[in-house]
Amino acid sequence: MDTKKIIALENQFGAKNYKPLDVVLEKGSGIWVWDVEGKKYMDCLSAYSAVNQGHCHPKILKKMASQMEKLTITSRAFRNNQLSLFYQDLCKLTHSHMVLPMNSGAEAVETVIKAVRKWGYQLKNIPDGKAQIIVCDNNFHGRTLTIVGFSSEEQYKDGFGPFTPGFVSIPFGDAKALEKAITPYTVAFMVEPIQGEAGVIVPKEGYLKKIRKICSQNKVVLIFDEIQTGLGRTGKLLAEEHEDVESDVTLIGKALSGGCYPVSAVLSNEEVLGVFLPGDHGSTFGGNPLACAVAREAVKVLIEENMIENAAQMGAYFQSGLKKIRSPLIKEIRGKGLMIGVELKKEAGGARSYCEQLMEKGLLCKETHIHVIRFAPPLVITKKDIDWALERISAVLAP
Ligand SMILES: *Cc1c(COP(=O)(O)O)cnc(C)c1O
Repeated sequence: MDTKKIIALENQFGAKNYKPLDVVLEKGSGIWVWDVEGKKYMDCLSAYSAVNQGHCHPKILKKMASQMEKLTITSRAFRNNQLSLFYQDLCKLTHSHMVLPMNSGAEAVETVIKAVRKWGYQLKNIPDGKAQIIVCDNNFHGRTLTIVGFSSEEQYKDGFGPFTPGFVSIPFGDAKALEKAITPYTVAFMVEPIQGEAGVIVPKEGYLKKIRKICSQNKVVLIFDEIQTGLGRTGKLLAEEHEDVESDVTLIGKALSGGCYPVSAVLSNEEVLGVFLPGDHGSTFGGNPLACAVAREAVKVLIEENMIENAAQMGAYFQSGLKKIRSPLIKEIRGKGLMIGVELKKEAGGARSYCEQLMEKGLLCKETHIHVIRFAPPLVITKKDIDWALERISAVLAP
């Protein structure tokens, strides 16, 4: 079937909750993907950073296939031999004490919300039903009802109320605002170290250190949502390492499976996840042996193949190349590692049409927040590939 027919079919039967670019992909390898017409593209989105290790990484696929033939799921009614190893690997790697496995990122967020609330009632003696969680304006933590309820994006909420109470939102990057917002009922502050969906917003140097200190002083749990920034994307295993800060709880997902399977995890100190008792929380697929085997291999590959250092080096190279493009359309270029945002001026009329032009030239990326083009290729990208991309970006932005 050709592109037009496939799109027509999709439009006929599918819910319209996305507005994808009109490219129909059927194959991928590393940073490259191919459409049904055989045209090759460089993937500069990486499925919102779910495929940091590159498409169809052979080692991850091999592990997946071999585990699939042994055992895929047990449910948590029984134990399986992959889960404990998954725990051990993640704790060693991230200096965490306890792990809770889930599937999607949003589920990891929901999980930590439950955990910190219970923590607040038990360990801070907050009166029942009063627990408050502080979040940031322009956050993105997922799409469940509780999560969209504290989004500042009107469309995420419009028509979907009523919402879960117990959330307060403050400006991102403003440590003083956090200090002011804390009350005796505050249990946690949840924040992305770099806001991704908001348009790659990097806070001022020192912000993470400051909020760490404020949370400690006030006995507030600091939660980093590293579902997008984690696992090498910003040139460190976790973005919090850029300021040498440790959260109380870190959420990871997306690239945790190298894009092969939905796997997420709550990484925590003993106190927070320690509040859960049997029956408090669960997921049929969470922690299944297939997910655990795939995730272990995906993390191993990330480290063994030096993808994290590569992200730091190639990210710097990509950013400096972008900064050399003399375009009257560009307002700002920002980011860390291979999480890069190019903000266009309002006069450019939105980033979407430039993404479409880049697609024509064989480079896939996606606008975020109307005026920003995000460049976030798989972390296996090379200098030569970046030069190839820069040529096309330059041709579109500075014709
Ligand atoms: C993608 C994302 C989520 C949600 O993950 P899903 O797997 O789509 O539910 C949460 N937080 C951040 C920062 C994300 O980028």
